[in-house]
Amino acid sequence: MATTTGSGGTIAPAPTRDGIATAAVWAGEPRGHAGAPTQIPVVHSVSYGYRDLAGWIKAATGSAVGHIYSRNTNPTVSAFEAKVAALEGAQAATSCATGMAAITATLLSLLSPGDTVVSQRDTYGGTSQLFLHLLPRLGIRVILVDTEDDAAYEDVLAEGVTLLYLETPTNPTLKVVDLARLAKAGRDGGALVVVDNTFATPVNQRPLALGADLVIHSATKFLGGHADALGGVVAGRSDLVQRVYEHREITGASLDPHAAYLLLRGMKTLALRVARQSASALEIARFLSAHPQVRAVHYPGLPEHPRHAVACAQMSGFGGVLSFEVQGGADGVAAVLSRLRLAHLAANLGAVETVVGSPATTSHVECTAEERASLGIPEALIRYSVGIEEPADLIADLEQALSGIGARDVAALAAVED
Ligand SMILES: *Cc1c(COP(=O)(O)O)cnc(C)c1O
Repeated sequence: MATTTGSGGTIAPAPTRDGIATAAVWAGEPRGHAGAPTQIPVVHSVSYGYRDLAGWIKAATGSAVGHIYSRNTNPTVSAFEAKVAALEGAQAATSCATGMAAITATLLSLLSPGDTVVSQRDTYGGTSQLFLHLLPRLGIRVILVDTEDDAAYEDVLAEGVTLLYLETPTNPTLKVVDLARLAKAGRDGGALVVVDNTFATPVNQRPLALGADLVIHSATKFLGGHADALGGVVAGRSDLVQRVYEHREITGASLDPHAAYLLLRGMKTLALRVARQSASALEIARFLSAHPQVRAVHYPGLPEHPRHAVACAQMSGFGGVLSFEVQGGADGVAAVLSRLRLAHLAANLGAVETVVGSPATTSHVECTAEERASLGIPEALIRYSVGIEEPADLIADLEQALSGIGARDVAALAAVED
C-alpha cells in the first residue's frame, strides 16, 4: 500500500519480483477505499478534515499518515507516484503538473548560485532553455558537452561538479548517452546524476539501476500514453525526492488528481504499448533506411546508429520514436507531412496514435533557428512517434507519403514550364 511521508513524496511499496507488465497493473494501488472500488478513486478534494487537533497535528508533522492539503499531497496523486516509483525501482517519487515543472523543480531544488551543472548539447527544447537562460541568470554555471563525447564529460566531471543531467535517447535526433559510464564518472566526481527517461520509459531502460540518483519523466508522453493528460514525475533516492517535493509544495506546480487518474489508467498498459511501439519503430526504421527518398534515419535500434552497441547494453527495446531526414529539404518535409493519413501533425509523442512533427514545431519550438542550428538539429527532419496501429498500415502510409516528394517536384516543374 502506498504511504506518504507526512509531508513528503510517496514511498514505493516494498520491491517485489513482479515483472514490469505486472507491476504496471498492480503496483502502487492501495486497497481498502470506502465502498471497496477496484479502481483508484479520483479524490477531488482540496483539503482533508480531522476530528481533533491532535490527530491533525500528527498528520501535519508527519508522525501519522494523512493528507493535509492537495497542493502538498492527494491520494490519487500518491497512487500515481507510487506506481512510477515501483516501475523505476525507486525508493520514492514525487510529481508535478508537467514534465517541465518536474525538471525545473529538480534543478532548482538541487542547485544553488555558484554550483556547476553539466549536461549534453541535445536536451529537450524546454530543458535547453533552462540551461541556456534561466540557470545562468541565477548564477549557476552550465557546461554543455557534445552529446556523444564520453571523454569530454569525464574531463569536466573529474573537476567536481554539483549535478550531471542526462537525457537518452535524445529528442529529436535519437542520440544515445552511455548511462553506466557517465553515471560512474559523475558519482566519482561527487555529482548527483539525473536522467530524463521520457523516451525510453522504464520498460526499455532503468537509469537508477545503471547508477543514476534520480529519474525524470514527462508523464504526458509514454507513461500516460493517450495524449489526454499533462504530468511530470521524479523518482529515486528518497532524500533527494524529498527536496524536490518541498520545492514543488511551495512553488505550487502540483499534479491535478484528475490528470493523475488518467496517467494511472494509461500506465496499466505501458508494457504492452511500449513493446508494440518499439517493435513497430524498428520495422519502420528498417523500411525508411532502404527508401530512396530518405537521406538518413535516426534510431538506436539500427546497427548503423553510431551508438547501437551502447543502446543494446542499456536498453531492452529501442523505443517508439524515430526521426528521419528526407530529400528535398523543407519542401520534402512539407510534402510528406501533408500526405500522411495515419498520423496527427502535432507537438506530442508517446501516444497510442502515430504523431509526427518537425523540430521547429515540436521539441524545439522554444528555440530560435540559430539555437537549433547550434544544437545540431537539422531543419529538414521529421520526428515520427509510432502509435499502436498495425505496422504494415503505417509503412504503407509512409510509402505513399514519401512518393509525394517526387510528385510535388514534377508538379512544380510543370508549373515552371507553363
Ligand atoms: C515533452 C518532454 C518534456 C517536457 O514535458 P511536458 O510534460 O511537456 O512539460 C521533457 N523531456 C522530454 C524528453 C520530453 O519529450
